[in-house]
Amino acid sequence: MRIYLDNSATTRPYAEVGAAMAACMRDNWGNPGGIHSFGRDAYAAMNEAREQVGALINARADEIYFTGGGTEADNLAIMGVAGRFARGHIITTAVEHAAVLNCCRRLQERGFAVTYLPPDGEGRITVGQVAEALRPDTLLVSVMHANNEVGTIMPVAEIGKMLAGRGVLLHTDAVQTVGKIAVDVAALGVDMLTVSGHKINGPKGVGALYVRHGVDIEPIILGGGQERGLRSGTENMPGIIGLGQAAELTRKRWRRQADEAKRARDCFVAELGRLLDGWVINGAWDDQARLPGNLHLSFRGVDGAALLLLLDMAGVAASAASACSSGRTEPSHVLQAMQAEDWRLRSALRLTFGWENTVQEAKRAAQIVAEQVKWLRQAENAADDGAE
Ligand code: PLP
Repeated sequence: MRIYLDNSATTRPYAEVGAAMAACMRDNWGNPGGIHSFGRDAYAAMNEAREQVGALINARADEIYFTGGGTEADNLAIMGVAGRFARGHIITTAVEHAAVLNCCRRLQERGFAVTYLPPDGEGRITVGQVAEALRPDTLLVSVMHANNEVGTIMPVAEIGKMLAGRGVLLHTDAVQTVGKIAVDVAALGVDMLTVSGHKINGPKGVGALYVRHGVDIEPIILGGGQERGLRSGTENMPGIIGLGQAAELTRKRWRRQADEAKRARDCFVAELGRLLDGWVINGAWDDQARLPGNLHLSFRGVDGAALLLLLDMAGVAASAASACSSGRTEPSHVLQAMQAEDWRLRSALRLTFGWENTVQEAKRAAQIVAEQVKWLRQAENAADDGAE
C-alpha cells in the first residue's frame, strides 16, 4: 500500500478534470482568438472556465487572468505592479514562497526597497507589523494567505481592512488556501490573488491571477495581447478547461473535503502521540490558525532527509520542507525565519493530508513513521556507542 501525504505539493486530478481536458483536445481544439466557429467555441469554453474560477473566489469573470501556474501569477502580480514605477517600497514576509521572494530580491537589485517581515515562532505575522512597515512610498504589500510549509494562516483580511483607502495595493498568494478554507476576494479586501490548478485537483502548469477591476498592472509576457493584454501567448486551452472544472468541483465540495483532510490528520496525530515520544508540531496548533490538512513535525535525534527516504521505501510519501523545491536539502527558510532550533530544522517533516486520505491510512502512516523514527534513533545510538 502506498500512502500519499504530500497534498500541498500537488493533488491527484479529479476524474472529471481529465475527462474535460481530453474532450477539449478532441472536440474543441480551436484557437480562442479565431473569429470563425472553431475559435468562438473555444472562446466560449474558456469564458465558462473564467466564470468557474471567478465563482470559486467570489470574483467577476473579467477579473480572472489565466497564467502558466501559481509561480507565474505571483510574478505577474509583483513584477506587474513594479513595472509601473521606477522606484518604491514593497512589504512582504520572510516566509513567502520562492515565487514571491525571488521577485522581491530581483526588484531590490533594480533599486526597489523591500521589507521582509519576520514571523513569530508559529510562522505568523501581524497586521501591526505591516502597519509599522508602511512608508510614504509603499506601493505593494504581498502576504501569503497561508504558508505552504507549516500551514499557518495569515491575517490577510485584517491587513486588507487596515490598507483600505491608503493607495497601497495588496496581493495574496492563496495557492495553499483555495479549496481548504474560505477564500473570498471581497472579504479579504485584496487587489490581487494567486490561484494554482494543481493544488485543487486540477492540472499542473495552469493558474490564475485575480486582478480587481480598476487595478492597473503591466504584463510580464509580451506578444499577441491575449488575456486582455496581460498575458500574451495562445491560451493553454486544455489546462484552462481543466482548471475551470477543478474550480467548479472544488467550490461545491471544499468544506466536506477540508473536514475529511482534517479528520485524517488529527487521527495521525493522535496515533503518533500514542506510539512515539520526542516530537513536536511546528507552526500553530489550532483550527483557526492552521490549514486543515497540514502537519509539520520535527523529531529529536533524527535526520529529516534519512527519514524521508525510509518513509518512501515503506510506502509513505511525505516531504522534507516545501516539495516545490524538492531535491534541495538546505534547511527550510520558513523554519529559519521562525527561529526554530537546529534540531528542528534538521529533522523537519511535512505531511499534508487530503480528502482522499482515509482514517485507516492515517493510522497506518503514523505506525510507519513511529517505526522508522525509532529505527533511526537506534541506529544513531549504535553509531554513537561505536564511536566511543
Ligand atoms: N505559492 C505557493 C504558496 C505554493 O505552495 C506554490 C507551489 O507549491 C506556488 C506558489 C507555485 O505554484 P505552481 O506550482 O503552480 O507554480
